[in-house]
Amino acid sequence: MKKTIKIILLGLFLMTAIAVGWTTYQFNTYRPRVIEKAVNPENLGYFKGIYTDCRKSFLDEALKQKDLYEGVEIKNLVIESNIDPDLSIDYCYIPAQTSFKRLFILTSAVHGVEGYAGSAVQQMFLRELVKEINLDEMGLLIIHAVNPFGFKNNRRVTENNVDLNRNCSTKANLYLSENKGYDELNSFLNQRQRVSFTSFGNFFFPVNAIQKILKYSMGTLRQAVLQGQYRHGKGVYYGGPDLEPSIKAVTPLIQQIAENYKLVFSIDLHTGYGENGTLHLFPSPLKDQKKKEKIETIFSGQRIDWGDSEDFYTVTGDFTSYLEQILPEKYYLTMTFEFGTLDTETTMGSIKALHNVMMENQGVHYGYKTRKDERLVKSRFLESYYPSSDAWRSKVIEDSRQTLSQVLKKYTEINAEDEP
Ligand SMILES: [Zn+2]
Repeated sequence: MKKTIKIILLGLFLMTAIAVGWTTYQFNTYRPRVIEKAVNPENLGYFKGIYTDCRKSFLDEALKQKDLYEGVEIKNLVIESNIDPDLSIDYCYIPAQTSFKRLFILTSAVHGVEGYAGSAVQQMFLRELVKEINLDEMGLLIIHAVNPFGFKNNRRVTENNVDLNRNCSTKANLYLSENKGYDELNSFLNQRQRVSFTSFGNFFFPVNAIQKILKYSMGTLRQAVLQGQYRHGKGVYYGGPDLEPSIKAVTPLIQQIAENYKLVFSIDLHTGYGENGTLHLFPSPLKDQKKKEKIETIFSGQRIDWGDSEDFYTVTGDFTSYLEQILPEKYYLTMTFEFGTLDTETTMGSIKALHNVMMENQGVHYGYKTRKDERLVKSRFLESYYPSSDAWRSKVIEDSRQTLSQVLKKYTEINAEDEP
């Protein structure tokens, strides 16, 4: 009898050891799926290595529009900062050339580090697509780097550790929102010590994460972590105590420019969430059936993620919903473009993505044990939002070119006249 118990216990121990070993191995050697698409070398030219080069290329493309259209405005909004006197959001506004009917807004780097791809898409848009669009009744507002600090310093967040896509609201009660699920996970998500990859906790991070998934379920966990929180200032996905300077700066700009137009359609460019090399389309949740139909017309033939997929989550204080709040008189439509990188629809991909975000945040607040830890954290983080893969970069431009070109043509056929 004793012998049988011993054998069962040994069997259980071995099975656990194999499961832990397998999970740890999978995690430490994780790579997203390979993108099977030929690289177009011309597309790669839009991608730059640092923020200042992205900014310069954007402004160069914007300047060329001055020779082609009437009333082109290229300016920058200076962002107040305690540490960097040279932070600004640049924009290019091309007004409708005969009558003001529709406005299209294209924004990048609400999450700073995602701006490399965002800027590349905006440069391509200015160079290749603007000339194809009928601008008689449509104006274009292209805003470069809504979060210039994050872009410049390879962070998603602002210098106040605020995630701008959790920060935006005209109502102050956003900043009093509670997120009890996050509070419970706070000590797991935000460790208060120097980052070390050789630490026990880090090495076995995936095992710990899977335990949490089993305890709470993937959906609950994803929602709690990602929806946004307003209590832990040094934590990940922090929405801040008030509107951030960047948002305060773009608000009057967007309101003033939108003033003359009846319809406003905005696209906000992001990277990092979803399947590697895939452009995901995330609309704001819509109750208005007519608006939903209009979005479906604009994006006809494309897969829109209306929130029915398994890895869906909602956020509070997002930028595109905020634009609707500050433009109450307008017929407003919006879409978020999300270029996937780490296959976050898979369990291992989402654990990896979360780990990268946590390590980067921890490093900023508490430092690193060694230079190697710092290098690894920073390169993995950058790779999650700005992959070095030529195939990924080429596809971002290819998909944007094709989708934006279609979308802008369809948008010229949309009318607000029949709307209340
Ligand atoms: Zn983003």
